Order: sequence, then structure tokens, then C-alpha cells
Amino acid sequence: MAHYLKRGATAEAKAETNRQVRDTVEGILSDIEARGDDAVRELSIRFDKWDRDSYRLTDAEIQACIDTLRPQDIRDIEFAQRQVRNFAQIQRDSMKDVEVETLPGVVLGHRNLPLNAAGCYVPGGKYPLLASAHMSVITAKVAGVPRVATCAPPFQGRPAPAIVAAQAMAGADEIYCLGGIQAVAAMGLGTQSIAPVDILVGPGNAFVAEAKRQLFGRVGIDLFAGPTETLVIADEIGCDGELAATDLLGQAEHGPDSPAVLLTTSETLARETMAWIDRLLDILPTADIARRAWDSYGEVIVAEDDAEMVRIADEIASEHVQVMTADPDYFLKNMTNYGALFLGARTNVSFGDKVIGTNHTLPTKKAARYTGGLWVGKFIKTCTYQRVTSDEASAMIGEYCSRLCDLEGFAGHGEQANIRVRRYGHRDVPY
Ligand code: NAD
Repeated sequence: MAHYLKRGATAEAKAETNRQVRDTVEGILSDIEARGDDAVRELSIRFDKWDRDSYRLTDAEIQACIDTLRPQDIRDIEFAQRQVRNFAQIQRDSMKDVEVETLPGVVLGHRNLPLNAAGCYVPGGKYPLLASAHMSVITAKVAGVPRVATCAPPFQGRPAPAIVAAQAMAGADEIYCLGGIQAVAAMGLGTQSIAPVDILVGPGNAFVAEAKRQLFGRVGIDLFAGPTETLVIADEIGCDGELAATDLLGQAEHGPDSPAVLLTTSETLARETMAWIDRLLDILPTADIARRAWDSYGEVIVAEDDAEMVRIADEIASEHVQVMTADPDYFLKNMTNYGALFLGARTNVSFGDKVIGTNHTLPTKKAARYTGGLWVGKFIKTCTYQRVTSDEASAMIGEYCSRLCDLEGFAGHGEQANIRVRRYGHRDVPY
């Protein structure tokens, strides 16, 4: 039976935080819906001290951002974008249109249709997360979305040059320097100056994630991608305390509300990891944030064996799961709830976040129970169609349909079938 060496925030504390965020977002969304650009501007000044007549960046401003980067920065961004584009293209190619004759004269099919407009949020409050631009803008473009708008908040009082460069290099059609709830709402609902999109995608803090959640239905969303979570599954063969501690803190630095959990079969490794965390927190430049996350949300769980670790990991349904055990593939074969798996000590979450090519926009708060991360498929509608190519097929299906409508008491539906049986089968429906 598993036991905890360290526990995170209680369910009640988490629920209270969620409630406060929910209420804040609700009020702000109504305000933006009622007043459009005026509300967006006031909120941008209030939350980000950022005021402009138009939040859309001009071509000259975009070029100026690109020009501030060093040639090596540009090459690094290009490398990362190539990896993301390449894997997205492979996934796109795996999505086939279908047309098949399922019964004589009955043809069913589906077409994969890209959405017309996407709004890609790139987070940038605490750090300029340029990688999120590759993940959403490139993926939307590979899916075939003609209009891709993208927003990121100002960073240190101006557009973050690296984010803007990444947005432009990824192929965005409209780039706005606008953050938080106001950015998501402006793209999702539309304002006088920003046309509404069909889907909102991309990660963000609790406010951004909640705003997308509340807008869902009026606009599509990719998934619930809030504050980063990480789960490290480790044993003494696949890992050591320093590695586990590094991988836990590497994600805890995202924000003070980012859970980092160690799940292991070794109490020795667990204690070693906790000691390493204390040591690393003394030297990590971002320790201020990481320490708050670890103190409030960090957990250490000691389990009996790999099977129990799978059960607990599926229950946690973490966004990222780093597996460093004797047999990482056991977890690939057996786990069902995770945003992304990182198998073995040679890879890690940071590779996925920044460069390796898989998408880093991933489900949080247990959304991994029902969705994977962002990918081309989220920008594509799979729409069905059908045709009946012979009179006999129409009459044959019509007979079944008519009787099934009768069972439901749907007379109008039934008549749609009956008329076809009469017209194409030259008979009445046998009951
Ligand atoms: P952000 O861009 O998500 O949010 C910054 C904005 O939040 C600001 O522009 C401001 O307008 C708004 N804001 C701040 N305080 C507010 C308040 N009290 N009320 C209303 N609005 C407020 O940037 P961030 O804050 O640095 O957060 C980035 C988040 O993205 C982190 O939590 C990180 O873990 C997460 N993330 C998640 C994934 C994923 O796939 N799940 C991937 C990358 C990053």
C-alpha cells in the first residue's frame, strides 16, 4: 500500500482557488462582451500596465523584434520549429479522408476540414514562452487553417521580441500584444478591432485556462491547458536523487501553482530526492517560484511496485509524466491517463517543452482522462457525408428507418423514409 512522505495542497484549498479564479473570469468576460475594445484596453492597462491604440503589431514592429535576436537565436528557433512542423505534418498525413460502400448502394464518408480561423494564445507573464508559438501557430498552419491570430502579453513593458519572432516565423497572420483573459476573450468573442476566431488554443495561467473553459461552446477550445504539472516516476535502477530533483524543479519553476510529484518504489530514492531538492533550491535562479510550488503542491509518494505506480499515476492523470525506471516501456504499455510521456532518463520534459517536436500544450487538472494534447486534429473537423446510389438501397434502408421512427413516435421522420420507399421501391413499408 502506497504512503506519502510529502503531501500537497488539500482539495478544499484547491477548490477555493478555483472558485476565486472562476468568479474573476466571469466578471471580466461579461465586461468585454458588453464593451468590446474599451474594456480590453482598460483591462490591459489594469493587469499589464500596457496601453496602445491598436494591440495589433505592425510589420515594422514585428521586423524590429526579429532584428533584436542574435543569429544563433534565430537558428535555434528555426530548428525547434522544423521539428514541430515535421511531426505535425506526419500526424496530418495520418488523418485520411474516408469513403466506403458499407452496403450495396450505400456510400458513407468523412472529410477532414480545417477550421477557418484559430486564436493562439502564447503565455508570457512570468517568462516569454516562445515555444508555445511553435506549438499552436505551426500546428494550425499545418492543419490548413487560413487565418491564424495570435496573442501574447507584454513582457517587461513591451512585446517580447523572441515571442514575436517565433509567432511571425511560425506563419501567424495577425500578431497582437495582449495578455490574459482580455486576449482570450477578444479573440474568442471578437471586438470592434479583432474578428472572432472559431477555436481558441494554447496554454496559460489559471485565468487564461478558465477563460477558455467559460468561452467553450461559443467558440471551440483545444483543451484545458492550465498551470503546468509534472509527475516523475522513478526507481533506483532508472534514476538517482539528483536527476529526479532536477526534473521536478525544472517544472515547478513554471509558477507557484505548478504541482510536481515524485512517485517511486524506493523510499531511499525518495529521501535522496528530497535532500537534492533542498540543495538545488539554494542555487536555482528561479528558486523563488519553484520553492513556493514545491512547498504548496509538491508530493512524494512511495508505492509497492510498478503496477501500483501505474494505478496511482492514472489517478493523478498528470500533464507530464517522466518515467525513469528499469522498464519505462511498461508504463507506455499500461498507463492510460497522461498528457505526454517522457520515457527513460535520456529525455525529459524540457525537450518536449522546447524543441523535440511533440506538442507541449497539454491537458492539466485531470483533463488527461478525456483528451490528449494539442495536435493538428484539434484544428480539423471530421465531417461525415452519405449518398445512396440505387433505388433498391434507398427503399431497403427506408423500410428499416420507417419502423425505427415508429418506435420513437417520430411521425415526420417516418414520413421522410416512407416517401422514399414508395417513390424508389414502389411499395409500402411492411410493418
Ligand atoms: P500568462 O500569459 O498565462 O498570463 C499572464 C496574464 O495573466 C497577464 O497578461 C495578465 O493579463 C493576466 N493576469 C495576471 N494576474 C491576473 C489577475 N489577478 N486577474 C486577472 N488576470 C490576471 O503567463 P503566466 O502567468 O506566466 O502563466 C503561464 C502559465 O502557462 C503557467 O502557469 C504555465 O505553467 C502554463 N503553461 C501550461 C502549459 C500546458 O500545456 N498546460 C504549457 C506551457 C505553460
